[in-house]
Order: sequence, then structure tokens, then C-alpha cells
Amino acid sequence: MMGMNSSDPDSATLAEDSAPPEYDGCQPAGGRSQRTLPGLHMLKLSVGPLDNNAYLLTDPISGAQILIDAAAEPDRLIAEIDRQRLVGIVTTHQHPDHWQALPDVQAATGAVTYAHSLDAAAIAPSKDAPTITNMLEEGDELALGQVKIGVIHLRGHTPGGLALTYREPAGRSHIFSGDSLFPGGIGATATPEDFAALFADVSEKVFANYDDATWVYPGHGNDTTLGAERPQLPDWAMRRW
Ligand SMILES: [Zn+2]
Ligand SMILES: [Zn+2]
Repeated sequence: MMGMNSSDPDSATLAEDSAPPEYDGCQPAGGRSQRTLPGLHMLKLSVGPLDNNAYLLTDPISGAQILIDAAAEPDRLIAEIDRQRLVGIVTTHQHPDHWQALPDVQAATGAVTYAHSLDAAAIAPSKDAPTITNMLEEGDELALGQVKIGVIHLRGHTPGGLALTYREPAGRSHIFSGDSLFPGGIGATATPEDFAALFADVSEKVFANYDDATWVYPGHGNDTTLGAERPQLPDWAMRRW
């Protein structure tokens, strides 16, 4: 038997020396991972049965926070949130798996709720629950203390899909893409017209405007970068999904 137990001096040393693993954007369903970027802290929580990602962004100076997609498991989300400093909850699009926890998180925090105007009416948890209070459009900015979070409108997965952007002071960008862009493809579309719209928007508003180092945080599953995906754009256009 190998002598690996808690009293083993070598394993104790290993445990003390091991730094937290570098953030790679990959975690199992149900996981929790954090990333400290220049100017922004990011927490990624996988919630619910569909491995939905909720992202909690925090300005390290003011503590102001934005939650992207209160998708499920409100208790887990609320436990991570600073209720005094949550300035808003953004829902990336109208699909119900992205807002199952929205009523509970909104009630617990009193936060303003944001979505694109074309999807907002369909984000309707129940007759009594508060729905979306604030509309977002292409080019809007959300202020998180001194941190600016940009808004991109991506049509096709739904009419009012949103991606949110953060640019580090030194220039590297980060895009929270909802269900519009994943590793290996754009989001699911129902018709050829929807595919054409989403492919055009992702090409023109994301790939044409952001460099290969740009990090992509999707609405489900693992992260990617634009550099990893860019070579596949012609294939996506050919296969039409
Ligand atoms: Zn969706
Ligand atoms: Zn989804």
C-alpha cells in the first residue's frame, strides 16, 4: 500500500505548497470557480440540471456586484452575493433555464433586473413576481463602481439575446456570451433565418471587434477564447448550425 494519509509528511507538504489551480474555465456541473482579473473579480457557479452558468462580477474597489443569469439554485446564489452591493441582475435571454432563481434572488436583494427589450416580456416567472424592470440595448453600459460593463445585442438564439463585455485596463477583453456562443459553435437556432442572424451578429459584433485573446464565458459548460473558435467560423457557416 502506498503511504498516502494525513500523517504522511510528504503529502502534508504537497497540500501546503499547492496554490489554487489557475483558472481555465472548465469545471464539472455543479462546480464553483473564481477568477481575479485586473480590475474585476469573477465567480462562476454552475447551477441547476442543465449546467447553467451564473456569473457574479464584483468591482474589487467598491464591492459593487452584477449577477449574470440567476438561473437556478437561488440559495447558492444568494449565499455568494453581497446584498448591500448587488446593483443589478442581468438575464442574458428569455429561455426559462436562465431565470428560474430570478424571483428569489431579486426578492432577497432588491436588485434592479435587466434584459433586452425584445426578450424582457417573456421573462415572466409568475403573475406576482417582479419581471424585468430595466431594458438594455446594444451599446449600453452598466456601471459597477468605476468598472464599465458593455452590452452587445445578438439576435438569433432568441430575438433579444445579450452578451456582456469587460475590458481590462491593459486591454484584454472578456465576453459573457449567454447562449449565443459556445466552444465549438454558435447557439442553437430554430430556422435558417435565425441562424443567419446569429452568425452575422456573432461574426460582426464579436469576432470582428475583439481579438483572439478575448475570453468567452458561455451560459452553459466550459469557457473558450475567440482565438480557439475563430478558425472554425467558415465551418460553422457551411454546416449552418
Ligand atoms: Zn437559451
Ligand atoms: Zn441555456
